Amino acid sequence: MEAPVRIEIDRGALGLAWEDGTTSSIPAAALRTACPCAGCRAGAPFTGHPTIESARIVGDYAVGIVFGPDGHATGIFSYDLLRSLAAES
Ligand SMILES: [Zn+2]
Repeated sequence: MEAPVRIEIDRGALGLAWEDGTTSSIPAAALRTACPCAGCRAGAPFTGHPTIESARIVGDYAVGIVFGPDGHATGIFSYDLLRSLAAES
C-alpha cells in the first residue's frame, strides 16, 4: 500500500506527500466529517470549525489525527481513506 513520506499540518489542513511524488491537502473539516471512529459513525456529525492539533503515523497503514478544539483523538485514517478524501477535496 502506498504510504505518505511526509505529513504536515498547514493552515488547518493535513498535508501529505506520497511515495509516488504526489502531494495532497485535506481540510480539517473534511477529515472530521469522514472520521471513521465508532463514536463519530454512531453519533451526530461534528458541527463547528474543527482544527488539526497533531497527526502521527499509526502502525504502517494509517494516520492518527488529534482534532481541536475538542481534543478528539480516536480517529485512525487509513492511507486508502486519506487517498480517497484527497481525491474529493
Ligand atoms: Zn471520530
